[in-house]
Amino acid sequence: MLLVMSKNATEKEIEDVIGAIKEQGYTPRPIPGGERMSIGILYNKGPVDGSLFLGMPGVQDAIPVTKPYKLVSREFKPEDTIVSVGGVKVGNGHMTIIAGPCAVESEEQAITIAQKVKAAGADMFRGGAFKPRTSPYAFQGLGLAGLKILEKVRKETGLPVVTEVVDITTFDQVEESADLVQIGTRNMQNFSLLKRAGASKRPILLKRGMAATIEEWLMAAEYILAEGNSQVILCERGVRTFVNHSRNTLDLSAVPVVKTESHLPIIIDPSHAAGKRDQVIPLSRAAVAVESHGIIVEVHHDPGKALSDGAQSLYPEQFEQLCMQVKTIFNSLKV
Ligand code: PEP
Ligand code: MN
Repeated sequence: MLLVMSKNATEKEIEDVIGAIKEQGYTPRPIPGGERMSIGILYNKGPVDGSLFLGMPGVQDAIPVTKPYKLVSREFKPEDTIVSVGGVKVGNGHMTIIAGPCAVESEEQAITIAQKVKAAGADMFRGGAFKPRTSPYAFQGLGLAGLKILEKVRKETGLPVVTEVVDITTFDQVEESADLVQIGTRNMQNFSLLKRAGASKRPILLKRGMAATIEEWLMAAEYILAEGNSQVILCERGVRTFVNHSRNTLDLSAVPVVKTESHLPIIIDPSHAAGKRDQVIPLSRAAVAVESHGIIVEVHHDPGKALSDGAQSLYPEQFEQLCMQVKTIFNSLKV
């Protein structure tokens, strides 16, 4: 249930409602809005009786929440959430471009690519330090040394950095170095990791599980918000289907659905969806046309020698072309 306070509800009225919710054994979650305060009621076992609160001064409405997810739903928060990542805004009205290699391989590699993507128009740098790889014999990332390199990238270029966290053991270090902490497709339902992300001081980039429904994905986001971190960006990165012409199948229809269901920003990863370089630019154009809030793209200055995901990494010149095209599409949608 969501209690909507009237525009001129006083602090005292809000406090009284919070107290009344606690008295019933529920958990109140104040949600400040542009014009008015709303208060979510969490951890109720069955339906909540709205009449308990409707008569209280300052309470304007009691809206039952029909979805299994609450805090992430539009019913709970009608206005779009804009997430700020090191000063870069992600969400409604913005088209954020995140780019960089799959993995940080060396300081020289990361800084070379970061300078190129920045010059082309990227707003943020990506690069994995801890890599979840299918094979235990494949390059697992530079680990802590990779995080230090990401800090240097930020210092040299001014770009905020996003990197993946793969377990709780390394969460503190990743959080310390990253501006945006990524939870990858393989960990979307790692509930203890999600809870730790909910206690994080950093915004979280939550990728969709490769076989997850939109409801399961939003429930995963709910874990993070329920622990108190409302700064979550969703990322559609393709789902597993029977096809073999691409690595995954990019589910573009997830964008309008998520935007209807949730106030959280949603971006697209065309690289992991495609798995092949020649599909990345067309899918990026589509991602912007379908009005996602941005893209995260793999770029490498020497993809033939990349230690992971070289086949889907764009050459810097291709990325430059992509940036020009997606910005043109984004601007054309404003009319
Ligand atoms: C990545 O971003 O490099 C990555 C491993 O992504 P995903 O979790 O979507 O496979
Ligand atoms: Mn990758």
